[in-house]
Amino acid sequence: MFKAFLIKYGEIGIKGKNRYLFEDALVNQIRLALDRVKGEYEVSKSQGRIYIECLEEFDIDDVVEELKTVFGIVGICPVVHVEDKGMEQLTKDVIQYIDNVYKDKRKTFKVNARRARKNYPISSMEVNKELGGKLLEAFPDLSVDVHNPDIFLTIEIREKIYIYSKVIPGPGGMPVGTSGKAMLLLSGGIDSPVAGYMIAKRGVAIEGVYFHAPPYTSERAKEKVVELAKIVAKFSGPIRLHIIHFTNIQLSIYEKCPHDELTIIMRRYMMRIGEKIAKERGCLGLITGESIGQVASQTMQSLRATNEVCELPVYRPLIGFDKQEIVEISEKIGTYEVSIQPFEDCCTIFVAKHPVTKPNVNRIRHSEGKIREEMEELVEIALHTKEVLEIS
Ligand code: ATP
Ligand code: MG
Repeated sequence: MFKAFLIKYGEIGIKGKNRYLFEDALVNQIRLALDRVKGEYEVSKSQGRIYIECLEEFDIDDVVEELKTVFGIVGICPVVHVEDKGMEQLTKDVIQYIDNVYKDKRKTFKVNARRARKNYPISSMEVNKELGGKLLEAFPDLSVDVHNPDIFLTIEIREKIYIYSKVIPGPGGMPVGTSGKAMLLLSGGIDSPVAGYMIAKRGVAIEGVYFHAPPYTSERAKEKVVELAKIVAKFSGPIRLHIIHFTNIQLSIYEKCPHDELTIIMRRYMMRIGEKIAKERGCLGLITGESIGQVASQTMQSLRATNEVCELPVYRPLIGFDKQEIVEISEKIGTYEVSIQPFEDCCTIFVAKHPVTKPNVNRIRHSEGKIREEMEELVEIALHTKEVLEIS
């Protein structure tokens, strides 16, 4: 029955002169998403709207599932289109539409006719009245509510006539590729994939860096991170994932620095290395999954200490979220089940029994001073031996 979709988009409608850039990016992302489902589609812009025409057999659920991954889409409206054969036929078509789409007719409705084709002989108001009346006759259970109807039935008069009333929520945000690129510090946990998702939602393309510490962290832990990157990539587009071999750096910190400072110093090296790759790759910021107070390394003092080693901005989209709120997003985007698989993380292997919760930045700098030279070399080696995977 449905042969097309109308795509509603919010914020990108208000970008003034840049508007067409955003619309083009959205059209592009929609096309990429539709490449992943069977069928042939034509995506077009017209008068501040985006339409998808389905040219072949297609599975509506599959299409909607894919469109729900396209940032920038606020609503997905499945559309029925019919030939313009006059009011009498249109009335029949609209009655049939309501009959098919709403099994239970105990609902309120409002007809919203729009003439994109101004030469249509009947005014929008008249179309509303006429169709509203005929629907009430056909379905006595229906009633009219012009302010807050259950069914907001739009009749759009173009070359053909488009009928739609359902709006399936999209993910919102802005089309990927309209806001530059950032480097996500991606671990196997719950938080960092969600952090990547949230920044990508603002139109930012993403690369990732994962710190791997074989043999303390297994191949399976690495595969888990790759799996998470794949899920995030459904939304963000392809992710170039840099895998850094971190073992020697961690061992060296472990041997030469006070144990209560291990985590903070290790985190500082992650940020330094992340930033080096970020700059090399043209990223404009780093992204982490940190949230204030979640663990010892995420107190305000610890965040200050990890933050100071970077010159690029560090985006922490989860900073004010409770764990439960983060879990809810991870369930929604599909990373949760993967994140909770129990594989060791490089942070958990070298942790002290009692890590500092209020690190003193001067003391941390002093401890790092003792290993500076060998660390410079180890960082160079880590950068030279990194693996790169293209995740899509
Ligand atoms: P997550 O659920 O994201 O692992 P977490 O609560 O375990 O977060 P930490 O282990 O303190 O928190 O890490 C804080 C942030 O540092 C992570 O959100 C992530 O961005 C980054 N990070 C931690 N470990 C790694 C790693 N092995 N590789 C890449 N980034 C990491
Ligand atoms: Mg972690």
